[in-house]
Amino acid sequence: MRHSGALFVWTRQIFITLSVGLLLFISSDASPTHGAEEERQKPVLKVANSHAWRPFSYLDKNQRPKGILVDFWQEFGERNGYQIEFLLTDWQRSIDLVRTGQADVHAGLLQSPERREFMDFGTPLFAIDTQVFFSQSMMGTSADFVLSGDTDHEIGVVQGGYEQEFMEASFPSVTLRRFPNNQAMLNAALIGDIQAFVADLQVANYHLYTTTNQNLFIPVRHLYTEMLYAGFAKGKSSLINQIDNKFTWLDDDTKRQLLNRWVYYDVETVYPTYLFPSLVAIGILIAMSYIFLLKRTVKQKTRALQAANDLLQEQAITDSLTQLNNRRYFYQYLYGMEKGKRGTSLMVFDIDDFKAFNDGFGHAHGDEVICFVAQTAKNLLPNDAVIARIGGEEFAVLQYFSTADRALAQATLLCDEIARQSLALFDHSSRPVTISLGVAYYPNGMPHSEIVDADKAMYEAKNQGKNSAVLNIIK
Ligand code: GH3
Ligand code: MG
Ligand code: MG
Repeated sequence: MRHSGALFVWTRQIFITLSVGLLLFISSDASPTHGAEEERQKPVLKVANSHAWRPFSYLDKNQRPKGILVDFWQEFGERNGYQIEFLLTDWQRSIDLVRTGQADVHAGLLQSPERREFMDFGTPLFAIDTQVFFSQSMMGTSADFVLSGDTDHEIGVVQGGYEQEFMEASFPSVTLRRFPNNQAMLNAALIGDIQAFVADLQVANYHLYTTTNQNLFIPVRHLYTEMLYAGFAKGKSSLINQIDNKFTWLDDDTKRQLLNRWVYYDVETVYPTYLFPSLVAIGILIAMSYIFLLKRTVKQKTRALQAANDLLQEQAITDSLTQLNNRRYFYQYLYGMEKGKRGTSLMVFDIDDFKAFNDGFGHAHGDEVICFVAQTAKNLLPNDAVIARIGGEEFAVLQYFSTADRALAQATLLCDEIARQSLALFDHSSRPVTISLGVAYYPNGMPHSEIVDADKAMYEAKNQGKNSAVLNIIK
């Protein structure tokens, strides 16, 4: 599901890109003469500003208007149906053009009491951040000390600029060096003609970052942060209203986009829109895979543990030599079984003169004899008989018979067959492996969980000469 979410975002992205491309293609393909006609019919808005105020407004080497404010007003014209005519000239003259009505609007300037005398200001456009810059050769010199005016250092400002007004008002003792525009001032700074200047951060950065010796100057003192406003000749309120009403599109994002084309710092890294959902999808996928693997591992381990546990339980109730049930199991079974069951028959048998096999043929052979007796007895007994090895060469069997005779017949069969089959299997100089067997038969159910009654019968068989079965009926 998450895959399809990421896929959807990708698909949507491609779809949007294609749609926008198609729209642009269609619109660019629309009749060019018709477009030019439309352009001619649009009202003209004359916009004035400096011709040397990079990156805000300037004329490039082909005398074409460029800069943040130029882009901004062009965008304004396109969105609101104006044909924009730029009048980019000296700073002072750009203001005069507005004052005298030769231009409709000043593209962007700071407010000052003097300017308010002859201008009205519209919507705030961009903030500019004005700083004092020192060259590296002045590092270590206190900015306060230089601004107090007690040194020979000159500080560069643009003639007629707001910075000049500000510096003269705030730091009257400082010697200012006036330049016709920012371009000239920054050029003088970069060739080492001046060691300090006042400029807007964006302006200075633009110049400093577009030269190879960009580390020569750094900002040392923030002076003010002010807004740039569209400026109008005083009293032209209808024009102000007309233009101000058309600024709603200028939100923070649009401003940032316009600025980022020009500004060489604080450029926000723009990630593709699909990146975040894709990362989330990948994260979820990794988490899901991890959980899946974890679950599988836990399942495998649980299974292995269960198997080990089963084996342990099996081993706990199995005799390791004969693989029959062991003594523990047999007694558990006796304690747990239904006591009143009629015809319960408990046999106990023991190999006769077993020591002789051990002594005569070795302990390992003794083991073989034990295994033979165990296996032969098991083969002779029906599946529902419970047989166990309850001692060294002693065994017990629990079964149900309808009569005592049948129980005795089973017991006799065990004695005879073990003896008979052993002769074919072992070379004991014609001596068979024999057992003595006691059967306790409980026609009315076994009232206790002891083997004592069968044991008694077995000892009787031993006493009677071994290799036989003795029946003990307990009513
Ligand atoms: P009886 O006819 O009276 O039973 O005589 P017996 O020789 O069989 O005497 P008893 O039952 O007392 O002896 C059992 C011997 O079995 C004693 C012991 O050394 C031996 N034995 C017990 N467990 C094992 C075993 O696991 N393997 C071997 N090889 N011998 C065992
Ligand atoms: Mg014995
Ligand atoms: Mg014994």
